[in-house]
Amino acid sequence: MFIADAHCDTLYAIAIDGKRPESCTITPDKLERGGVGLQTFALFAGRKGTLGTPYADGVAMLEAVPKLGVPVLTGDLPEAMPQQPTGIISCEGGEMLEGSIARLEEFHRKARLRMIALTWNFENEIGHPAKLGPKPGLKPFGFELLRAMDALGILADTSHLNEAGFWDVCERAALPPIASHSDCRWLCDVPRNLTREQVMALIDRGGFIGVNFYSCFLREDGRATLDDAVRHIDALCELGAEHIVGFGSDFDGIDAWPEGLGDPTGFPVLLDALARRGYTQAQLEALAGGNLWNLLKRAERAAC
Ligand SMILES: [Zn+2]
Repeated sequence: MFIADAHCDTLYAIAIDGKRPESCTITPDKLERGGVGLQTFALFAGRKGTLGTPYADGVAMLEAVPKLGVPVLTGDLPEAMPQQPTGIISCEGGEMLEGSIARLEEFHRKARLRMIALTWNFENEIGHPAKLGPKPGLKPFGFELLRAMDALGILADTSHLNEAGFWDVCERAALPPIASHSDCRWLCDVPRNLTREQVMALIDRGGFIGVNFYSCFLREDGRATLDDAVRHIDALCELGAEHIVGFGSDFDGIDAWPEGLGDPTGFPVLLDALARRGYTQAQLEALAGGNLWNLLKRAERAAC
């Protein structure tokens, strides 16, 4: 079964934290053992760049791509879902773009960005993070950026963005908005998780939600088990999200996870648990990776 993951911070761990690639949570070997065909690697520049600027961090992470040890697609996606671990690049924290469309085009030319999380946990040139409250909405550059992203076929990722920003994206982005690594706020009340209304909006627009494996987003007491990940997936599917749900593990960016779900080899374990809950083979294939793949292909076709 094709498995896809919408978010991890492995490039940051290697390029900025100086971690050895073989000691990261995501390694080529673990991706292969977990059956992961598509891994999204984020250029994460939310923290104040240790290299001076978020842009410099972004460039350093791009230079570290060969150290990942898996092929990274910087051109069009292949016709068929990859059967061997393959990477794509995203951006987490739009401050890397320094308020400039030229920077967006530069990163896109080099890395073929598939999605951009408009903010991390700081205010930037684009908008405001969920962590600092629900308002205000996107800034003028945020709207300009959305237009440029639509033209390039890059999805707007609302994980980390505040609510007013989320609704601005829903109103103004032509491509479907996504939340690459967020869970259900009505099951775990933290600002990084999505409300029912946000989930419904993502369903209406044919977007994507990657379920985050961070224990503190799965349960408020942080003592999450694999059943809690199942509980969040169940809750999303009960709202009608089965065609837009998938995984956004956040591996190499989190320090607490359910037992059995601590690295890519946990994906088949989670899928087995879902199968035991009664999900059909077609539903499992959609959740495992089909939903994300289909949206990425749509975004690519929409680029002008
Ligand atoms: Zn994140």
